[in-house]
Amino acid sequence: MKYDHILVRYGELTLKTKNRKMFVNAIRKTMIRTLEGFDVKVKANRDRAYIELFDADPYEVMDALKHVTGILSVSPVVKMDRTEDAMKETALNFAGGFKGGSTFKIEVKRADKEFHLKTFDIQDMLGGLLLRNTENIEVDVRNPDYKVMVEVRLDGIYMYHDVIKCVGGLPAGTGGKALLMLSGGIDSPVAGFEIMKKGVELEAIHFHSPPYTSLQATEKVKRLVDIMSERTGVDIKLHIVPFTELQTTLYDKIPDNMSMTSTRRIMLRIAEKLAWKVDAEAIVNGENLGQVASQTLTSMHAINAVTNYPVLRPLLTLEKNDIVRMAKEYDTYETSIMPFEDCCTIFKPKAPKTKPALDKVLKFESNVDFESMIEKALENIEVYETDAKESENAFDALL
Ligand code: ATP
Ligand code: MG
Repeated sequence: MKYDHILVRYGELTLKTKNRKMFVNAIRKTMIRTLEGFDVKVKANRDRAYIELFDADPYEVMDALKHVTGILSVSPVVKMDRTEDAMKETALNFAGGFKGGSTFKIEVKRADKEFHLKTFDIQDMLGGLLLRNTENIEVDVRNPDYKVMVEVRLDGIYMYHDVIKCVGGLPAGTGGKALLMLSGGIDSPVAGFEIMKKGVELEAIHFHSPPYTSLQATEKVKRLVDIMSERTGVDIKLHIVPFTELQTTLYDKIPDNMSMTSTRRIMLRIAEKLAWKVDAEAIVNGENLGQVASQTLTSMHAINAVTNYPVLRPLLTLEKNDIVRMAKEYDTYETSIMPFEDCCTIFKPKAPKTKPALDKVLKFESNVDFESMIEKALENIEVYETDAKESENAFDALL
């Protein structure tokens, strides 16, 4: 079957009538960005978009659009002249690909109400034709295996039957900006994707402690933002914060069973300062209730006490195996499980408190001048910027 267009259906856009134009423009921009390098033309209308395929493979194009937020589903489509012969020929071609013993239905949409054939005429003509010419298929109007859609428009007739689900959500850049706390683990990139799905643009912050953390660990985080950026067609700025001085001071000055809480508190303080600076309206992390000692409700309470900023935790109540499935879907899993720790094992407390007492944490922290170290860390941030199309980085060379 030679497809010449991809039909793109929008996600939750329908709800937002007032902002529709802005949403359509945003989604058009991201699609153009994502499909750079494909021989295609993007035509985004009010209610849907068509990608005209010149010399591009329809399945590669659909794969590239799968994670563009705001796209609900895509279909490979054949566009034809507005003649009966053209419709018949294409419908027969489709039916040739149906499995034996299957059922089908012809569904017609007449966007052009003046078209000389009525809905029923088209259904009757094509349904009868397929039944007469294709062996071992039947009509089932309720629950068909194949739904052949025929759309009659002014510029031609569009026919398709395959519908491929995409990520959905809202178009990039329509929901403000948030700062993602990105470790090299499985959870935080998934948390980032979930927030991006809602049209929120991200910057990311990563804390590293060289030489205790390896170069590979930092390159791995760069690769994670590359993947996120490539899949969604949206660039992400990654801020890499030098954390060694703070990390070693925490190790020396805070009792072992409270150092995890204080470490997270300091990270959050730095994240908040950066969020103000880059105009991010929320902080996002990959925390999951009860997963580890630092993620009990009591720990979260003690950690969160350093900020008034909204801290979004999209994975809060999910099961780990669902998060893993999502990481695989978003293509970050293989990178996340690479064995480069973002925080050297020597700093990991042996028995972190699951119920840290905030008053004690505050007392120990008050003995140390963390503020000046925090300022210094912020001054020495290294910035890595993705380019949604140029995602090569030094990571492979380091393996
Ligand atoms: P992840 O898989 O995202 O690392 P996790 O379950 O391993 O999550 P923790 O390592 O305890 O949990 O971290 C909880 C959250 O804190 C992470 O999801 C991430 O948002 C943030 N975080 C942890 N370490 C770092 C780091 N080095 N840099 C930036 N953010 C971090
Ligand atoms: Mg982790």
